[in-house]
Amino acid sequence: MDAVLTVKQPYADRIMEGTKRYEFRRKAPARDIDGLYVHIAGTGPYAQAYVGVNCVHTGTPEAIWEYCSECAAIMPPGISREDFFAYFDGCETATAISLAPRPQVLNPPILLEYLGLKGAPQSIAYAKPQQPEIGDYTCPYCGHEQQATYDEWEGSDFEDRTTVWCRRCGQSFDVYREWVAYYTNVDPDPFSMCPGSESTERFRDGWRCRIGGCAAMKED
Ligand SMILES: [Zn+2]
Ligand SMILES: [Zn+2]
Repeated sequence: MDAVLTVKQPYADRIMEGTKRYEFRRKAPARDIDGLYVHIAGTGPYAQAYVGVNCVHTGTPEAIWEYCSECAAIMPPGISREDFFAYFDGCETATAISLAPRPQVLNPPILLEYLGLKGAPQSIAYAKPQQPEIGDYTCPYCGHEQQATYDEWEGSDFEDRTTVWCRRCGQSFDVYREWVAYYTNVDPDPFSMCPGSESTERFRDGWRCRIGGCAAMKED
C-alpha cells in the first residue's frame, strides 16, 4: 500500500532530487508501505512526487541517527544532526523510512482527492487511488482514462463538445461527443496503430485515434 506524506521544503526538493534517502517521522506508519506520495507543505491539493520505500527502521533517536548517518556519502540522511535531534526532541522512538533511488516527479501532479484524501495529510495518510475506469477519453496531460459524466454533457453549451477536467491531475480539456460514442464499442486491434498516439483500437464502424486532439484517422 502507498502512503501520502506532507513534506516541508527544502526536504521535499531533496526527496525529488534523490538526495534525501530517509524520511524521518515521530510516529511509525501503522501499516506496511510500498511507496510514498509527497505533498509539498503549503502548496495546492496535489501530490508532486512518488518514491518507493525500501524499509522502515525504528529505534531511539540516537540509534536511528547513528544508523542513518553511517554511510552518509552513499545514502545521505538529508538533514543536519542538529535539525534531526531538534525534530525528535522529547521522543523516545524515531522512525526512518528508507527511500528507494530514482524518485518520480509527477508531471502533471496528481490530485490528493484522486488518492482518496480530502485534504493535505496532517501526518501519514494511506492512499486509496480510484479504480481505473473504462475510458470514454484519455487525459492528454497524464494519460488517465475516464468517462464523461452526464453533468459534464448537460453543462455544455455545445452540441458536440464539452470541457471536462481530469479526475487524476485536475487539468481541463475539451472532448467531443462523437469520440465518446465511439469509445463504447472498443476492440483492441494490433494491426491498426495511430502514428501519433500508438492507439491500437478499432471501433465498430472503422478506426479512430484514441487521443482526441490527434488528426490521424484510418478507415477500413
Ligand atoms: Zn490527467
Ligand atoms: Zn493519434
